[in-house]
Amino acid sequence: MFVKTPNFEIKFRTILNIYQMNYSKKVLLTLMLSFIVSNLTIAQESFKNNQSLFDEFFAHNSTAYRSATGKPGPAYWQNQTDYKIEATLNDQSNSISGKVTLTYTNNSPESLDFIWMYLDQNRFTENSRGTLTTPIMGNRYNGDIDGGYTITNLNATVNRASSSKYIITDTRMQVFFKDPIPAKGGKATVSMNFSYKIPEKGMDRMGRLETKNGTIYAIAQWFPKAAVLDDTEGWNTEPYLGAGEFYDEYGDYDYYITAPYNHIVVGSGTLQNPKEVLSSTVIKRMDEAAKSDTTVYLLKPDEINDVALKAKQSGTLTWHFKMQNTRDVAFASSKAFIWDAAKINLPSGKTAIAQSVYPIESNGNEAWSRSTEYTKNGIENNSKMWFEYPYPSAVNVAAEINGMEYPGMSFCSWKSKGAGLWGVTDHEFGHNWFPMIVGSNERRYPWMDEGFNTFINHYSSEEFNNREYPDKLNQTRDRVKWYLDSHNEGIDTYPDIVNTNNLGMTAYVKPATGLFLLREYILGPERFDNAFKTYIKNWAYKHPQPRDFFNTIDNVSGENLDWFWKGWFYGTGKIDLAIENVVPYDGNYVIVLANKGDLPMPVVMNVTYSDDSSETIELPVEIWQRGNTWNYLLKTDKKVENVELDPKKIVPDVNSSNDTWPDTTYKK
Ligand SMILES: [Zn+2]
Repeated sequence: MFVKTPNFEIKFRTILNIYQMNYSKKVLLTLMLSFIVSNLTIAQESFKNNQSLFDEFFAHNSTAYRSATGKPGPAYWQNQTDYKIEATLNDQSNSISGKVTLTYTNNSPESLDFIWMYLDQNRFTENSRGTLTTPIMGNRYNGDIDGGYTITNLNATVNRASSSKYIITDTRMQVFFKDPIPAKGGKATVSMNFSYKIPEKGMDRMGRLETKNGTIYAIAQWFPKAAVLDDTEGWNTEPYLGAGEFYDEYGDYDYYITAPYNHIVVGSGTLQNPKEVLSSTVIKRMDEAAKSDTTVYLLKPDEINDVALKAKQSGTLTWHFKMQNTRDVAFASSKAFIWDAAKINLPSGKTAIAQSVYPIESNGNEAWSRSTEYTKNGIENNSKMWFEYPYPSAVNVAAEINGMEYPGMSFCSWKSKGAGLWGVTDHEFGHNWFPMIVGSNERRYPWMDEGFNTFINHYSSEEFNNREYPDKLNQTRDRVKWYLDSHNEGIDTYPDIVNTNNLGMTAYVKPATGLFLLREYILGPERFDNAFKTYIKNWAYKHPQPRDFFNTIDNVSGENLDWFWKGWFYGTGKIDLAIENVVPYDGNYVIVLANKGDLPMPVVMNVTYSDDSSETIELPVEIWQRGNTWNYLLKTDKKVENVELDPKKIVPDVNSSNDTWPDTTYKK
C-alpha cells in the first residue's frame, strides 16, 4: 500500500523554539569548579543509572517453534493452503462468480474441528464492521456498500466425512468438519460457490475504473480464503476493516478466469494457455519481450480495439494461471489495455518478465510507457541487494487505486507520472519481499512490511538510472517536527487503531528510518546487510513475529540492541545528543557530552583542529549506561577549533542547536 507522508520541512528556528534544551549555567559552573577542586572529577555523574533504557523488553528465550537466535525453531510449523479457483467476470453486471476448492494441510501439533476463512468482500455491505467504523466524512478506506458474498454449496470434507456447516460473522467464516483434521499433516478439502458485485470503490485495494475504451477491473481479495493459524496467536481472525492489510498462509494456486473475448487478463503467476487466449502475433511479441532489456509492445496504443489481434472474435475466453508457494493471487481484466513487457535479469542468471497494462489515458513516456522499465529495474535492484525475486512474472496495472500490492502484481494509480510512478511502482513491487516472501502479519505489524519495504525502496531509488528520482529517507531531520509532535504514536500501534495522519510515519517512515540508522550509523552496512539478509532467508515463505526479527538482528550482528528496539520501535521518545562543552584539560581536552533525549544513541563526532586537520571519533552507546552525561578525554597536542556531532546528519536528532561547539546559535 502507498501512503503519502506529510512533508516535514525542518525549520531550524522553529525546532529551536519548540525544543530549546536550556541547560543550566549552574551545571557548567559546577563543572568548571570541579576541575579546580579535583583533576579526577570532570563532571558530576548522575546517581540514577540508565538500566531502564537498556533492559530487556521482549522474549529472547527459545521455544520449540521460535529460537532465541531468531531462526524458526526445531518444531516450527505452518499450515498449507492450496487453491483451485474457477471464476467468471461478467462485465454487464460487474460481478464475479465462481467456485473455490481449498486443500488445507494441518501441520500444527493439534487436530482441528474447524478452520477460519476470510470473506473480504463482505466489507462492502452497509452493516460491515468496516463500514460502521468509517468516519462520517469518510477516509481513504472507503468502499461501496452494495456488495458482499453470496455463498452456496459449501462442502467441508475430512476423510470422506463431509459437512456443510458454517457460520459467517462479518468478514470471517468459520467452517466446521464432521471429523477433525488430524494434527501433523492431516488434510481437509473445503469447496464452495461464491458470487458478488465488484465494488467500484474497493478500499483503495481493488475496484473498477471507467476509461475511454472500457472498464479496467483490478481484482483482489476475490475469493474465500483461509485465515492463518500460528503458534503465537492461535487463529488470526482480525476483521477486515480497511487499514489493516493481510496475513496469509502459503500454497500453490491453480486458477481460471473466464472473461469476455475482447479482454486482456493478466494475473499473478504464469499464464498456462497462451495459445488459447492470445493471437499468434501477441505470442510472438511476448517471446521477443521475454528476451529484451528494453520495453516491447504486446498491444500498441493504436491496437487497443483491433479485434484481429484477439484469439477469438466473440464469446468468452478462459485464462489459466498457476503460481507456486505464494500467499495470494490477484488479476486484472479489461478491453482498454495497452500492454507491454521486458525481461527481468536475476542474479542467478534466471530471468522473469515485467509487464504493464494501462489505458490510453495513461500513455506516454512521462507516464505509464515507462512502467515496465520501472518494474524491471526495481525488481532487479532488490534481487541484487537482498534476495532473488522468485516469481516468473511481475505485472503493473494502471487502476483507480493509489498503490496496492499482491504477489507478482501491483495496482498503481493510472494518473501517476514520472517520479511519482517510479516511487509507487518500486514500492508496490518491493512488497514482494515484505510481506509476500517474508510473510509477516500486516494486520498487526505493518512496520514489518511497509517499514521494511520503504527502507529497501531507498536503496533501489539510489540505484535507478543514476539517481533519476533520488529518495529522501536519508534526510532524517526533515521529519523532526513529527517526532516532537505530542500527537505522534508508536510504530507498534495497530494500523486500524493508529490516527490516519500518523500511519505514514508509524508504519512506513519511522521503521524505515530505524533500519536506515542501523545500517548507516549503528552497525554499518556490512554487519547490517548480513543480519537483514539472514532474516529474509530464514523467514522466506514463513511467518516471523517481531521477536524473530529483533532476535535475528541481535544474534547475527552480535549486539544486544534492546535499547534501540525499545526506544525507537516500541516508544515515542526523541533522540537528542548534545555537546555541553569542550574544555582544556591537562594538556588535552575533555569533550562534555550529554544525552538529552529519551533514548540513547552511539556518538559520532567530527573534531576540527586549528591546523585545518580533522578526525572522526566514534563512541559506543554504552557510554550512556550509567547516566546521561559523558566526559570524553581527547588526547591531542593540537588546538581544537570545532566539534560537531553526527557530521553526516544521519540521526534524526530533534535539537540541532546543541550539536556543535563552539555554540554559535543565539540563546536568550
Ligand atoms: Zn506499501
